[in-house]
Amino acid sequence: MLLKGSLGDLAVISLSNTFLFLGTAFESAALLRLQGVLTPRTRKMGIIVMLTAILLFNLVLFFYNGEGLRIAIASTFCALLIAPPALRLLLQRKAPALRRLMGGLYTFLAAALAIRASAALLAEGPAALLAATVSQNLFSISAYMTMMLANTGFVLLAKQKSDDELFRLASVDDLTQIWNRRTFIYKAEAVLDQYAKRRLPVSFLLFDIDGFKSINDTYGHDIGDRVLREMSAVVSKQLGPHDLFGRYGGDEFAILLPGASRAESTLLAERIRVAAEGSYTLSIGALTFVPEHRSDLDRIYKCCDMALYEAKRAGRNRIQRAEQHFEAPETREYDYVRI
Ligand code: GH3
Ligand code: MG
Repeated sequence: MLLKGSLGDLAVISLSNTFLFLGTAFESAALLRLQGVLTPRTRKMGIIVMLTAILLFNLVLFFYNGEGLRIAIASTFCALLIAPPALRLLLQRKAPALRRLMGGLYTFLAAALAIRASAALLAEGPAALLAATVSQNLFSISAYMTMMLANTGFVLLAKQKSDDELFRLASVDDLTQIWNRRTFIYKAEAVLDQYAKRRLPVSFLLFDIDGFKSINDTYGHDIGDRVLREMSAVVSKQLGPHDLFGRYGGDEFAILLPGASRAESTLLAERIRVAAEGSYTLSIGALTFVPEHRSDLDRIYKCCDMALYEAKRAGRNRIQRAEQHFEAPETREYDYVRI
């Protein structure tokens, strides 16, 4: 609009709408990228739609110049660019509320553009964006409001995405992609709290790779890393959706099985031992108990560690129950003090 005087009407309309198509295409690409679906194919399709829009709009502008048709082309192509990422955001199952809200706003914008396109084609006389009719003003206000709200939401979405990524980096073990020690303990304590209230048992497995140092020494640290990664993947496959699996450190791992009885935990420990058995073996300490408090975790870990030590001493590649340590005299003393 500032250039209107020096460039002339046609050039200004051409420039501003070319920028509109470019901007909308960038916005669409940003939304796709945020959802992790900006593939070379979607990028190519977006570029084709954008170039077609620019070409068609300018052809109409310079060779026909009907205002209704111009508005229809601009609105249709902007709707075409925005609708796919908007619908994807809106219809994604299990998406957080903010994502769905954003999807809703962008879908509303795409729908408003589509309605505007058909209205411009059907309307008699000029229906220019800035024409001072009530419906035009209403359309402009709602379109700008939606865009502003959607853009604010876009920034929030981007922040949420980077927060999620930071959270993942802070809670997952880099090498094995299972919970790190801190997160495992945090989540396990919450489960203990829950099961203490419900007076239900949970089981704890602590295991360690046998002779892992010699794998490192013989084949190198990289192969050692690969063993840790592959073993974690093999064990994860044996677990249910509510079981917690974490790396305590080095080649020592822990599993919390909410609701698992003694027999079930021994059976699962055996399944894990057999699944991992190959070029290396595992020793496992196992304990089943009804928790009393979230702070039980420390004591449980120590009991399983003792059982694990016994399994190693007894020849490795085996499961050792830890109940005898849990009910040891010093823990009875603890009970006495508590009463
Ligand atoms: P044991 O049967 O008694 O468990 O013998 P071990 O040789 O497995 O002894 P231990 O469990 O104490 O050895 C753990 C080794 O794991 C020592 C350390 O160098 C190695 N380690 C710790 N973290 C990593 C890691 O991230 N990658 C690799 N490759 N090695 C690691
Ligand atoms: Mg070991």
